[in-house]
Amino acid sequence: MTKIGLEIHCQLTNLESKLFCPCKANYRSYEINTNICPICMGLPGSLPRLNQEAVKKATMIAMALNCSTPEKIAFFRKNYFYPDLPKNFQITQLNIYGDTSIGGAGSVMVGDKKIRITRIQLEEDPGRLIYEGNSSKNQITLVDYNRAGTPLVEIVTEPDFENPKQVREFLNILSDLLENLGISDPSLEGAMRADANVSIEGEKKVEIKNIGSFHDLEKAVHFEITRQESLHARDIEIVQETRHWDDKRKITISSRSKEEALDYRYFLEGDIPWVKIDSETFEKLKSNMPESISSKKERYVSNHHIPNQVADVLSSDKFYSDLFEQSYTESNAKEIANIITTDLMGLVDTREKRESSKITPNHLRDLADSIQSGKISRNSAKNALYEIVKTGKDLAQVISDLDLGNVSDESELTKTIDEVISEEAGAVEQAKTNPQTINYLVGKVMQKTKGKADPKMTLELLKKKIE
Ligand SMILES: [Zn+2]
Repeated sequence: MTKIGLEIHCQLTNLESKLFCPCKANYRSYEINTNICPICMGLPGSLPRLNQEAVKKATMIAMALNCSTPEKIAFFRKNYFYPDLPKNFQITQLNIYGDTSIGGAGSVMVGDKKIRITRIQLEEDPGRLIYEGNSSKNQITLVDYNRAGTPLVEIVTEPDFENPKQVREFLNILSDLLENLGISDPSLEGAMRADANVSIEGEKKVEIKNIGSFHDLEKAVHFEITRQESLHARDIEIVQETRHWDDKRKITISSRSKEEALDYRYFLEGDIPWVKIDSETFEKLKSNMPESISSKKERYVSNHHIPNQVADVLSSDKFYSDLFEQSYTESNAKEIANIITTDLMGLVDTREKRESSKITPNHLRDLADSIQSGKISRNSAKNALYEIVKTGKDLAQVISDLDLGNVSDESELTKTIDEVISEEAGAVEQAKTNPQTINYLVGKVMQKTKGKADPKMTLELLKKKIE
């Protein structure tokens, strides 16, 4: 059996400041090497100060992943030299004096499969290396320290995954969960990174490092399984090693460096005392946890009679579920869910489009009410939605600007129906014996009115004329 385990690094992107200094956690908007200070640069004499908000947010992640959360946590120095690490050590966590990391022993269900979470720890992100030049002769490496010290949560799983598909499903669940908690924005470049370990039946474990996105993680795991199976089939020994993911060539490459825990000379970070989290803080965090995705889904299905699949899509995306929550009333919930999942999702399917979209909960409410009262057809509502997302105009304005209102004036509608009846004599004859054919005639009326005929009224008028 194939065994896959993951180590996921997730930045707490929504925090105000870095983990041990007042520099901004949102380093992406800064000029290179301008979001730095003596603390995150590790200058002599500087002392780290722990960001308490980061401890709280990381604890919320632990709680959402059903982990136990110890009352006392400790920080450790992980010593190694690398240009992206100005202090020559990273402040992280380790369970050497008992469980002193933020969380442990949790689990997540992926379909019917239980994935155990070994440990969750809080640590600082190193800086970022930038490579310039394209040949080995003229390539230089530059370092940007804006990222150094950004709060990072590491989530370590047991090797419970059996295939890349489970890995992908887990990553989807995890990124939805983090987004729902309002703690991290997984869509930001570099906000989610991962290492994986892979072993096939009876063979040694291989670690893959340096996977920069969730998309590549699934590919890397898939590649590694295929590589190991092909070696195994040819009776070639699989070496226990660390391999790097080459995201240009989409393959894993053996890397000579192979550090063991001992090489890092872990020791307690003396500049940060042990942190005690009292039960009151835990209680407060628990009561402030946002409603979970599964509970939202359940509520949508049972309270608003939204179909299972629609509720699934709606609840798992915070942007859409927030819009839904702010706009629905008892009478239009299903209609709004429908507008969001069938039409809106296609219009705002990227981060940029979401940010520039002008739609508000009021717009959605107006749209749903207008469809339900027969003021506009679903088809016209779709056109109106497109205009609203682009311009933010009121629905009434959009209806009049684009002439989208339903034709519900009886005499006007009767004229069109009479035209259809004279053009479709055969179908009219058939409709007398086969009630299904009447839908065809309704369709013809719709075509003539460019989808603006009130369908209910059209059907009634047609029935009267034909009988
Ligand atoms: Zn700093």
